[in-house]
Amino acid sequence: MRLDYLTIFPEYLDALRLSLPGKAVDKGLLELHVHDLRTWTHDRHRTVDDTPYGGGAGMVLKPEPFGEALDELAVDGATVVVPTPAGRPFTQPLARELATRERLVFLCGRYEGIDQRVLDHVATRAELVEVSLGDYVLNGGEVAALAMTEAVVRLLPGFMGNAASLVEESHESGLLEHPVYTKPAAWRGHEVPPVLMSGNHGAIAAWRHDRALARTAERRPDLLPATAVASEWVVEPAV
Ligand code: SAM
Repeated sequence: MRLDYLTIFPEYLDALRLSLPGKAVDKGLLELHVHDLRTWTHDRHRTVDDTPYGGGAGMVLKPEPFGEALDELAVDGATVVVPTPAGRPFTQPLARELATRERLVFLCGRYEGIDQRVLDHVATRAELVEVSLGDYVLNGGEVAALAMTEAVVRLLPGFMGNAASLVEESHESGLLEHPVYTKPAAWRGHEVPPVLMSGNHGAIAAWRHDRALARTAERRPDLLPATAVASEWVVEPAV
């Protein structure tokens, strides 16, 4: 997979070289290209923004630098991801969908956002996906692009050492994951649930499923199927 980022703060994306995406580059699963949008400006101040038509506070990212960048990067046929609070909510199914693409190009907004004509233009030559990280407003698209990258990259075939750990995670089964524990068996008066040390794999699987259901019912009932019956859920004990 190839990932491109257009941003006015390229250093913000240095974190891509660390951790998961960095490992994927080392494994040859991923190509990363971070581009400074100001490369495609032609004035002394390398201007990327201007005042909004119609008035109002803030500045808008101009279309011309994006246009030239998209031409030079030959984005035709790629999937162009535009982080915006007005986008489709980012979820695990969307991460899975994006993980199937060969090339993602992230356009990181700043200020009041990107001139709408950039998006209209992209839609004529590439797959345009406007994505929201959540119902809040960030200062720029870089953090959203980083979060999406991490969620997508860990799904690339051959990336995770243990593919089973992907399957068991929150949101993969439609439920939140059960709580997890490691050694020691007792810590500051808190005990590991005895069933996890029983060696009984059936009982452990049943306990984990119950905990996942209970947690989801308690914290994110919106994730449960409408047909689920409340009495099936075991309420998580306060620890
Ligand atoms: N005026 C815009 C609005 O109200 O929709 C918000 C602009 S925000 C200050 C600047 C940039 O941050 C956006 O263009 C977008 O790239 C990014 N951004 C902010 N919140 C976001 C969110 N919830 N999800 C994804 N990107 C976000």
